[in-house]
Amino acid sequence: MKNTGKTGSAAPKVIPRPAHNVSRKEISDSALKVLYRLHKAGYQAFLVGGGVRDAMLELHPKDFDIATDATPEQIRSLFGNCRLIGRRFRLAHVRFGREVIEVATFRAAANHEDDDSEHDIEGRILRDNVYGNIEEDVWRRDFTCNALYYNIADFSIWDYVGGFKDIKKKRLVLIGDPVQRLREDPVRMLRAVRFAGKLDFTIHRSVVKAMRGQTGLLANVPAARLFDEFLKLFQSGFAEKTFDLLRKHDLFGELFPATEEEVSKDKTFAAFVRSALQNSDKRVAAGKSVTPMFLIGVFLWLPIKKLAEIRRSEEKMSESQAISLAGYEVVAQQQRRISIPKRFTIPMREMLALQPRFTGMRGKRAMSFLEHRRFRAAYDFMVLLAEVGEVDPELASFWTEVQTQSPEEQAKSFQMQAGPGGKRKPRRRRRRKPSQQA
Ligand code: ATP
Ligand code: MG
Repeated sequence: MKNTGKTGSAAPKVIPRPAHNVSRKEISDSALKVLYRLHKAGYQAFLVGGGVRDAMLELHPKDFDIATDATPEQIRSLFGNCRLIGRRFRLAHVRFGREVIEVATFRAAANHEDDDSEHDIEGRILRDNVYGNIEEDVWRRDFTCNALYYNIADFSIWDYVGGFKDIKKKRLVLIGDPVQRLREDPVRMLRAVRFAGKLDFTIHRSVVKAMRGQTGLLANVPAARLFDEFLKLFQSGFAEKTFDLLRKHDLFGELFPATEEEVSKDKTFAAFVRSALQNSDKRVAAGKSVTPMFLIGVFLWLPIKKLAEIRRSEEKMSESQAISLAGYEVVAQQQRRISIPKRFTIPMREMLALQPRFTGMRGKRAMSFLEHRRFRAAYDFMVLLAEVGEVDPELASFWTEVQTQSPEEQAKSFQMQAGPGGKRKPRRRRRRKPSQQA
């Protein structure tokens, strides 16, 4: 990336401590320790990125990145609790209990055609880790609000690109030429949306314009990287807003093509997805855990259900089996975009395949269903379906109620119910032994 001169200058604007509100109270003790030790050893030491941005916005940052002119080896010699990671970009991770502070040496932008990065005999890049100074480091960052440097030497902020003003104006502006910066790394489009959702910033029109027509570039991004990004997009407590923004900017379909297709056609499914996103945001706000498998299950539910019906019309199988089979196929398609680890896809398919079991189950089988390791997730999923009228609300209440009962009462409930909710007929018993997982 070259300094186009449009959004910055070679000399920083230095904002002295009295003129900004970044307080050391907002910075973790561990991050401060690292900053001070580097400084005392004679190196430059700055807090950068989201830590400065969020501190300015009084959002209590949790993640702290530090930039310095010390090399990774020099950093390591200063800290006992330090590990160097990364092959291409060597970073130092300084550990304090569970907290890890990332310390990076100033880097110059790579990817120049006449790059002097090292290659091995096969031409593989060994290290495009070109160290630089702070003036160079700033240009490889994405948004101006992410490019403020908080100097531990005098607690001032160094601003090369107008980030200070952009934070005040609550706007996301790409450093340099937006079209080029998005082409360099299309994930920046997702980052724009994520920050807009989280920070309540507007995406500057120059960025919106550059995004238009370039969203397809996300197809070239490794699926594993998109999974990491997916987690950040949907588990930070702003999932609903993020979802709307992703759709608005034609990005959601790049991540979940099958979901986008159904959401755009089916109002009930769209309401179901929304409801799940709201639920997830509420859980995050309440400090409860969220699992990606639930939301992925929600996203893929209708595509899977539709395919399951087709598979069932082709071959004799139970509804559960059909859902499981269709789940496998739809997930395989989805993996091309976002690689979802098996530890999430397996429970997800289990959760979906359990859905037919809520209707018309009686006696011991119903009792053992309550003990199923995916019962809780499947139940939550079913309740969401009931919220949008896809499942009989009485059925949902029945299963809610039954969980509060003693085993004796439960046995009675399951016997009494002609079908839970009283309305549904029990399914006719098949003669064939159902192939049922334990
Ligand atoms: P948060 O921690 O809230 O996700 P962040 O801005 O700290 O936000 P990180 O992914 O932790 O984001 O990255 C730290 C910093 O590294 C960013 O602030 C930015 O300056 C730079 N950065 C990260 N990803 C990119 C990218 N894809 N392109 C350019 N710069 C990036
Ligand atoms: Mg960060």
